[in-house]
Amino acid sequence: MVIPLEVAIGRLTGLLHCQTHQTPLYREAPEAFDVCPHCKRQVIPYWDHGDGYVFPGDWQCPEHGSVTPMKSAVANTHPYVPDWSAA
Ligand SMILES: [Zn+2]
Repeated sequence: MVIPLEVAIGRLTGLLHCQTHQTPLYREAPEAFDVCPHCKRQVIPYWDHGDGYVFPGDWQCPEHGSVTPMKSAVANTHPYVPDWSAA
């Protein structure tokens, strides 16, 4: 299959649109969030400073504390509400 050069450039740069539908010929990668694997709320990174480097050392979920985050295309935006049903 031969792809015209302008189509290949358009796919690489995202500048080319389909002439009949005016829609991109590709789909952009969706924004990904670092979320808690339990409640899917966005986690807050806490940065470690060591050996001259700065890197995320811990991620905190408001409900679940220190968690290992997962990538997700969606994030839960509902605020944390304590569960008092067992109290
Ligand atoms: Zn959580």
